[in-house]
Amino acid sequence: MARTIDKIVRGMKTSDGAGVKLTRLVGTPVLRRIDPFLMLDEFGSDEPTDYLAGFPDHPHRGFETVTYMVEGRFRHKDNHGHEGLLETGGAQWMTAGRGIVHSEMPEQKEGVVRGFQLWLNLPSTDKLCDPTYKDLQKENIPVAELPGGVTARVLAGLVGDVKGPIERSKTEPIYVDVTIPAGASVTIPIPRGHAGFAYPFEGTKLTVAERPLERGELAVLRDDGDELVLKATDGDVRVLVVAGKPLNEPVVQYGPFVMNTLEEIEQAVSDLQAGRF
Ligand code: FE
Repeated sequence: MARTIDKIVRGMKTSDGAGVKLTRLVGTPVLRRIDPFLMLDEFGSDEPTDYLAGFPDHPHRGFETVTYMVEGRFRHKDNHGHEGLLETGGAQWMTAGRGIVHSEMPEQKEGVVRGFQLWLNLPSTDKLCDPTYKDLQKENIPVAELPGGVTARVLAGLVGDVKGPIERSKTEPIYVDVTIPAGASVTIPIPRGHAGFAYPFEGTKLTVAERPLERGELAVLRDDGDELVLKATDGDVRVLVVAGKPLNEPVVQYGPFVMNTLEEIEQAVSDLQAGRF
């Protein structure tokens, strides 16, 4: 059965890091979170002053960050000696766990930078796990070839017989970048019980669950079916489809610390100050 749309929201223009301009789609006053997702930022500019400042050293604890580089190059470095270069079509799935301090800086002085950062919560049992990384270059993200010329890059989840490289037992995330040629449609399986959303980021005319969606609009899905139908009505479109199993645990967030209780947040602050990240 096909899912329908619960609500459609627009993002909020903001800036983060040392002044990078971005649009916050999840994690705003109108859409606080979609459990297990805490935040979704879209960045995109061909104006270097919008992104050059980057995201100098900052901490994270208690969740995962998923950075998907649609276009451009960013370098990542952390205080445990991990370093990686994110390039066009690549992604980084970082499990902050008990804590890292890192920087995410553009590796270019001009040209276009476009992409997304999603924050995925960790279950209480894993919030203080060892930090880990999965750096996925473009060629490490498998592509599902679907009927009608539709292609889906699968970072996580299962589309057709293509399984994404990232698996998490508690949140069972699905993260798919779907390209739909004009006139074609596609059905993406999303298990019942998963919360999720669809966000078109290229092209303008499409329907999500039979409702037209404009550029800049994000559709939050109802948990009323086990698949999502997308259709490109006029021109090619590209859509981000993300879903996951809600954790249904208390969330106490203080900036880049996301824990279950206020005491755990206080602990995070003192651990950071004491250099225990
Ligand atoms: Fe970060």
